[in-house]
Amino acid sequence: MIKAIIDNIKGLYSLLVGLSITGRFFFSPQKTVHYPRQVVDPEILSSYRGPLELVPGEKDPAQSRCICCQMCVRACPGHCLTVTKEAGSKAPAAYLYDFTYCCLCAACVESCPTGAIRFSHKVYLVADSRQALHLDLLADLKVRASAAPASESAAAEQTGT
Ligand code: SF4
Ligand code: SF4
Repeated sequence: MIKAIIDNIKGLYSLLVGLSITGRFFFSPQKTVHYPRQVVDPEILSSYRGPLELVPGEKDPAQSRCICCQMCVRACPGHCLTVTKEAGSKAPAAYLYDFTYCCLCAACVESCPTGAIRFSHKVYLVADSRQALHLDLLADLKVRASAAPASESAAAEQTGT
């Protein structure tokens, strides 16, 4: 009899603890958005790790800072990166990135001696095939530079990236 009462008290206590946690989160501010009716706050996106992108050059935002040293390629555990050099130059001829194998570990970003790569904040990226996630980062850099050259270079100067 006493054991049954103690068990009931323990069960009730457990229930109250569970309900208090549920209640706390139920009344706390919402952390998700009803996409596409709402969009994610840009401030939250600033810490989001989206697919890699090349950092624009300081003088020419359409040029990469990459010097083709291959440090990022060697550091990548997923073998996601392929960097080839332009003949007679340090500039990359191609910078290919297989996002399907990327675990967003940042080993490439941290190993780059020139700060040439960073995580983008592309939270709305979608694809209908794996091939569509094989990204050409040099082409992406050129598109971004032509879309907003002034803001890109200003942002690059501000962040020092
Ligand atoms: S974030 Fe990690 S897995 Fe992704 S490309 Fe860089 S090193 Fe490779
Ligand atoms: S580590 Fe940096 S500079 Fe070297 S190949 Fe990678 S992106 Fe280019």
